Amino acid sequence: MEHAIQQGPGKIVIISSPSGGGKTTICRALLRPERLESGWRFSVSYTTRPPRTGELNGREYYFVTDREFDALTARGFFAEHFQVHKFKYGTPRGPLDEIRQDGGVMVLDVDVNGAKALKQEFPDAITIFILPPSIEALRERLNSRGTETSEQLAVRFDNAIREMNSFRDFGFDYVVVNRDLSIAVEEVESVIIAHHCRIEHFPPEQLKEILS
Ligand code: 5GP
Repeated sequence: MEHAIQQGPGKIVIISSPSGGGKTTICRALLRPERLESGWRFSVSYTTRPPRTGELNGREYYFVTDREFDALTARGFFAEHFQVHKFKYGTPRGPLDEIRQDGGVMVLDVDVNGAKALKQEFPDAITIFILPPSIEALRERLNSRGTETSEQLAVRFDNAIREMNSFRDFGFDYVVVNRDLSIAVEEVESVIIAHHCRIEHFPPEQLKEILS
């Protein structure tokens, strides 16, 4: 049986990690088909980064030009936007507003600055930082993807070390070490469920229903 997280006001779950930390795999595992059916969604960001092999416009990202991105920014389309590893990335505001109004769970995969900005706007969002088990594991994961040039890899590696040294300053609520994927996914799920069960998130109308 699925947990009743989709009940009540929509939830925002922000997952962040250094490049190679495994957040994309964790997000995919979280959003299994039953979850999608019960109102869980992935927030598809906009980016000026060119698509990698296998990436689809509208699935991993909406791939746009620099000019298109700037035009969207100018009309307040993004809830937050930052430059990450030399490209621009932004979270569209519309789907976040929809989920908050209609209920469900929105999972976001953003960098540490994006996580901080979103948490400021949506204080009841859950922010989770994913750490790799070691620098060596991170280096191996980054190299084995084979999706970046050696120059891009060096930028990502430097940024990863910086983020890992400073993630505490970004006010994350939870940290999960991705040593074993299935355990990491379980920990992220437990965090989301525990957060949902916090007393301040218990809708008074549910108590009325229980007592009627
Ligand atoms: P990648 O190019 O590997 O897909 O993503 C690079 C970084 O950009 C990752 O840390 C990812 O979490 C972050 N990112 C993806 N979408 C967004 C977004 O909409 N906003 C922000 N701030 N970061 C994003």
